[in-house]
Amino acid sequence: MNSPRCLAVMYHYVRRLGPMSREGIVALSPRDLETQLDILCAALEPIDWPTLWAWTQGRARIPDRSFLLTFDDGLVDHAATVAPILERRGLRGVFFVVGETLTARRMLSAHAIHLLLTNLGYERLEYELIRCLSNLDSDRDWGANLDSEAACATYPYEVPQVACLKYFLNMVLPAEIRRAAVNTLFELSVGSSARWSQSTYLNWDQLKELQDKGHTIGAHGHAHEPLGKLTAQQQRHDISSAAALLNEGLGRDIRPFSYPFGSFTGETEAICRGAGFAHAFTTERTWITAQCETMRLPRIDTIYVKDELEKEAATCVEI
Ligand SMILES: [Zn+2]
Repeated sequence: MNSPRCLAVMYHYVRRLGPMSREGIVALSPRDLETQLDILCAALEPIDWPTLWAWTQGRARIPDRSFLLTFDDGLVDHAATVAPILERRGLRGVFFVVGETLTARRMLSAHAIHLLLTNLGYERLEYELIRCLSNLDSDRDWGANLDSEAACATYPYEVPQVACLKYFLNMVLPAEIRRAAVNTLFELSVGSSARWSQSTYLNWDQLKELQDKGHTIGAHGHAHEPLGKLTAQQQRHDISSAAALLNEGLGRDIRPFSYPFGSFTGETEAICRGAGFAHAFTTERTWITAQCETMRLPRIDTIYVKDELEKEAATCVEI
């Protein structure tokens, strides 16, 4: 007998890009999203997050083969482009937002880097970064201890040199040095971080509208840090701030969480559960089954959907 399985799919940018943006931003076009939804709906049955949650609690059933749509980072694309596409099809998604995008008028480093890559290109950004970092702290060997395999696993859609650069900035550099360096370069080469943040991230009105239309709003950390690399105290502060902010802005509710950069430890799981989150999503590339831990639900990047469905179809033929 088949046991139910759900493929949770993770998306970030969904927008039409001009030729100038392509170097720095990896986005799915609206048309590619539509095509992927056609493929998913033909192979699997859609479920929303409340249904998945009820199933993991033993209160509901889910179809044998289902999918769940999740969107990270609280990008404005999700209200402007994604929600209308989903709603036309009667689908509902999960939108994971970062607390700081609602409280601080500043670009998150992760997205600032995309615009820096777009404006400067890889070579120039690397050069400017090394200069900027040596001004901040000349004694450190910035390139040391870079695990290129982990970098490519974290950024599977990037060429290795860009994956390594992003990994170095987001996962290796101490947060305060990364923020100072990226912010300095951003203001010099791109423009006002405050102004860009307003046109990049969802605001409260957009989040309320998404929620009213039946989508789920979840948290994606408060400062978008790799939680598994923080101390327990720092993690508690980050996760509880994100939980409190959403409860305050959108009303108290049961919500899911997604780990920024897929980074977490057993401690992170316990802290998330303690902060009231019902589920936490990772970036482990497999399906959700009844055996999965609720604070470690796997999720695949959009680039792997076709592969997973082909594998699934081949398994069904064998059976
Ligand atoms: Zn993220």
